[in-house]
Amino acid sequence: MQDKGKLYLVATPIGNLEDITLRAIRILKEVDLIAAEDTRHTLQLLNHFNISKPLISYYRQNEKEKANSILDKIEEGKNIALVSDAGTPGISDPGEEIVKKAIERKIDIIPIPGACAAIAALIASGMNTREFCFLGFLPANNLYKKRVLEENKYETKTIIIYEAPHKLKNTLKLIKEIWGNRKVTIARELTKVYEEYKRTDINDALEVLQDIRGEYVIIIEGSKISQEDIEIKKRNELSLTEHYKFYQNKGYSKKEIIKLIAKDRNVNKNEIYKEFT
Ligand code: SAM
Repeated sequence: MQDKGKLYLVATPIGNLEDITLRAIRILKEVDLIAAEDTRHTLQLLNHFNISKPLISYYRQNEKEKANSILDKIEEGKNIALVSDAGTPGISDPGEEIVKKAIERKIDIIPIPGACAAIAALIASGMNTREFCFLGFLPANNLYKKRVLEENKYETKTIIIYEAPHKLKNTLKLIKEIWGNRKVTIARELTKVYEEYKRTDINDALEVLQDIRGEYVIIIEGSKISQEDIEIKKRNELSLTEHYKFYQNKGYSKKEIIKLIAKDRNVNKNEIYKEFT
């Protein structure tokens, strides 16, 4: 029986064509087929690197059906590379579906890492890079957008958002409305001629941003208050008896409850113990 091929997830540049890796070029030359989000767009990249390969289309709307036919070909022994229009496949781009199905079908998946706008913007942002939360594109509908922002209001990690230029100001306004003013880095046209960073706060960004064209990543400082801080604050507004009941309803023992209340109220547990004997 013919050995199975492999699925390669190949990152391509996000602007500057020099940002393709040597390995990516080699894999694109070696595979039997390239599945691309936009075949015409990828053809330009391939032409630039003198790569001639059959291309098949694989985009959001045909992702589910196409995934199976691509994987059928891999099972027949073909090696296939998946690329998106720019950057890392699967990151706000098609990829996730085929990877899930490939895992089910026990097909080897080999990522070929490279450019990713979120990571490039984050590392240049000046914000905390140790922990971050990638939200990708927020929903287009304002109602859903607000909901996602509400859900992430107390996220303490640095937040990364992709946004289209014509929606940038509206999104910043909503962020300010729901999260308040915060530090922000607006990274524009990464790796390209008009690459630019505005490291400021949302109020200022809303004033100074003009001539909004090109591609943008928004990096926002995480919340200084966590969801847990909010919950503790709420519990501390309860009477001691209510606070006790709160933990009792969760099934904690008396000893545990006293410890938890003392921790919430930042007092010695003996003080709480006295109240309940
Ligand atoms: N898969 C890509 C990646 O790895 O970054 C992201 C693809 S997503 C469809 C496109 C969005 O990524 C753009 O709307 C923009 O928010 C961001 N983006 C891509 N290239 C960029 C660049 N050169 N500069 C700034 N943002 C970029």
